[in-house]
Parts: sequence; C-alpha cells; structure tokens
Amino acid sequence: MPTSKTLHYDVIIVGAGINGCAVAYYLSQAGLNVALVDKTGIASGGSGAAGAFISPKFHKQGPLKELMDVAYDEAMTFYSTVLASQTLLKPLLHMSQNNDEEPVYLEQSAVVEARSACEKLAEGIDFYVLDVQAPIYSKDKWHYEHLQSSHLVLTIGAYPKILPIDYVGLRGIWGHRIDITTSSDVPHIFHHFVSISPTIKEGIVAIGATHDVHYSPFDSDATYDIESGRAFLLDNASKILKLNNINILRDYTGLRSGSNDYMPMLGSLVDANATLALHPHLQHGKAIDPKEFVYYPNLIMINGSGGYGFVLAPYLAKRLKEYLVDGIPLDKMISPSRYFPRWAKRKKD
Ligand SMILES: Cc1cc2nc3c(=O)[nH]c(=O)nc-3n(C[C@H](O)[C@H](O)[C@H](O)COP(=O)(O)OP(=O)(O)OC[C@H]3O[C@@H](n4cnc5c(N)ncnc54)[C@H](O)[C@@H]3O)c2cc1C
Repeated sequence: MPTSKTLHYDVIIVGAGINGCAVAYYLSQAGLNVALVDKTGIASGGSGAAGAFISPKFHKQGPLKELMDVAYDEAMTFYSTVLASQTLLKPLLHMSQNNDEEPVYLEQSAVVEARSACEKLAEGIDFYVLDVQAPIYSKDKWHYEHLQSSHLVLTIGAYPKILPIDYVGLRGIWGHRIDITTSSDVPHIFHHFVSISPTIKEGIVAIGATHDVHYSPFDSDATYDIESGRAFLLDNASKILKLNNINILRDYTGLRSGSNDYMPMLGSLVDANATLALHPHLQHGKAIDPKEFVYYPNLIMINGSGGYGFVLAPYLAKRLKEYLVDGIPLDKMISPSRYFPRWAKRKKD
C-alpha cells in the first residue's frame, strides 16, 4: 500500500505472527482502526513454522499452569469457532517424556493450520511491509514513516528489540518440524518425545518439533543442519508409532521466544533511561512501587509465549482488547516490567 500521505490509526501493531494477528482481529472487531506491520509478511516468523497444537500444560502446578488452563479453554473456543476452517479437532494422547506420569487422553484437542490461521485473522486489516526500527512518540502519537497512531503494540517475537529494553529477558528457541505422508494410520494427536498429528490437509501428518537453544539465525555463522533435525524428528516419532512409507514433504523452521521465568508477557514497557534518571537509587537495589517507573506512553508488548504461542494468543489478545477498549487493568503478574528492578540493580554505570 505505497503512499507518502500520513495515515492515521488508533493502533499500529508491529509483527504479524499469531500474537499480532490475534490482536489485530480483536481490536478491529471492537471497532478500532488498526494497521498491521511486518518486515517480511504475515506469519513469516515463529508462527509460520509452528505445528500449532492446542494443548494444555499437563504438569507443574502453579501460576503458569493456572493461566495456561484458562488460555487453553479460551483457545479451544476461539479456534473452533473463529477459525473453524483452519482447525482440526482431534483427541490427544499425552505421555510424559520419562514415562514417569500416567498418560492423559483428552477427548478433544486441536491442531491449527498456522499460516492460514494468521492470514484469516488479518483479513480486511490494513497491512504494510515495513522493518520498524526505533519508532518515535511525539505530540501524543506514535510515528513510523507515513504511519501514525495513538497506540503501538509490539508483537515481534524473538527478533532483535526495536527499543532499548534490555531488561526484558527473552531467548530464542529454534524449532524444526516436518510434514510427511505415510501409509500408516495416525488416528489422533500424540505428544511424547515429539508430537505426531493428522492435519487439516487430507493425508498429511505433522511431526514436531525440535527445541534448540544454541542455534539462532541472528548470531550463528553456521547454517542450520536440516538433515540432523529430520533424523531427530523421525527417530523420536518411531518411538511412539511405527510409520511406514514415509515421504517428507516440507520442513518448517523458526524461533520461539521464551521468557526467563516461562510466563508470557503482556503489558507496558518501562523506559529504562528515563526511569533511572528519575530514580538513580534503583541501581543500589532500593525497591519502589512499579507505578513510579516511567513507561513508554500508549505502548504494549506481547511476547515470551515460548512453545505455547498459539494456545496463549487468543487469551493475551482478548485481555489487551479489554484493557484498551473496556478499561480493564492488565494482570501485573505478566507485565514485562517485572524484570526491570533486578536488571537496574545489576546494571553497571
Ligand atoms: C517449530 C515450532 C513449533 C511450534 N509449535 C507450537 C505448537 O504446537 N503450539 C503452540 O502453541 N506454539 C507452538 N510454537 C510456538 C509459537 O509458534 C510461538 O510461540 C508463536 O509463533 C509466537 O508468535 P509471535 O506472534 O509472538 O511471534 P512471531 O511469529 O515470531 O512473529 C513476529 C513477527 O514480527 C516480525 N518482526 C520482527 N521484527 C520486526 C520489525 N523490526 N519490524 C517489523 N516486523 C518485525 C517478524 O517478521 C515476525 O513475522 C512453535 C514454534 C516453532 C518454531
């Protein structure tokens, strides 16, 4: 959509993965005028690689499990209604990695066709291909090139940060999955060493995914070894099911973005320099109320969904809509500012 005229929006969303697309969907449904921006295209990051299984977190009780249980329920409703044509509902058999827990059989779970789901959510929304770097806030608006908005939402996953927010602890976890054909029947979704699942594409079975914290396309010189990834996936799949006459159709690779404490992030971002200038004693470990931090105005980030981005996206996008449109406060527990005090204390002058 090339133009030099300034275009005004209520919200610009940077990053068109499942998080950006779900936010665009919820906000436009609520009547906001939304622009979606991506440096490459819709679902060109981790989202385009995902097997996109919608499964709950099975163990480790605690706040993350509680949040995931709500997110899972909301995701099942969302995908089976809003994205019914992109979603296959199937039973799921989950077995723990070490066989140290009872297997769980869920009557209804789901696998989503990741790319077309993102595209469907972005349908009818103004989309721009732009590599956004250091957007500027002035005169009550966010500005980037010819785009202007009251609010900015950052959903850029594991990509390099576009604002100085070093305190936000994120790490990229490289993943590889494959689509295959096989003469064997795959009646439902299996989760064990890897996942094996039928897909909405008749006759195509998905096997995924690897988890590699050492490889990153942003800072590794070596190219990724696709053959060893395939071997890992097929070897682990064979420990679950005997799959005959396998033909690998396609490889998908990408980065998930995991947070240091495994909780997702939804919330405002602290302006670190402005906050430290106002409260220099934070560097000596003095605690202050997070309300006293200086935040980037009208800016929200969603990130850190790890291997559960498709499960969490409807939940996080809906909470963001409720915050912007209905004035419901965001959950402080998942605010990205939770990392700031510790980072400030450790920061060298
Ligand atoms: C192999 C694999 C399998 C997975 N399987 C599952 C699964 O079964 N279930 C599940 O729930 N999750 C799964 N995940 C995780 C899930 O894919 C991620 O959590 C999710 O995709 C994160 O979405 P996102 O929108 O935050 O980020 P991304 O999808 O990475 O999107 C970020 C977007 O931002 C854009 N961008 C970055 N920087 C800029 C910039 N400066 N300017 C403009 N645009 C920018 C990128 O081009 C990209 O399109 C899997 C991931 C992988 C890699």
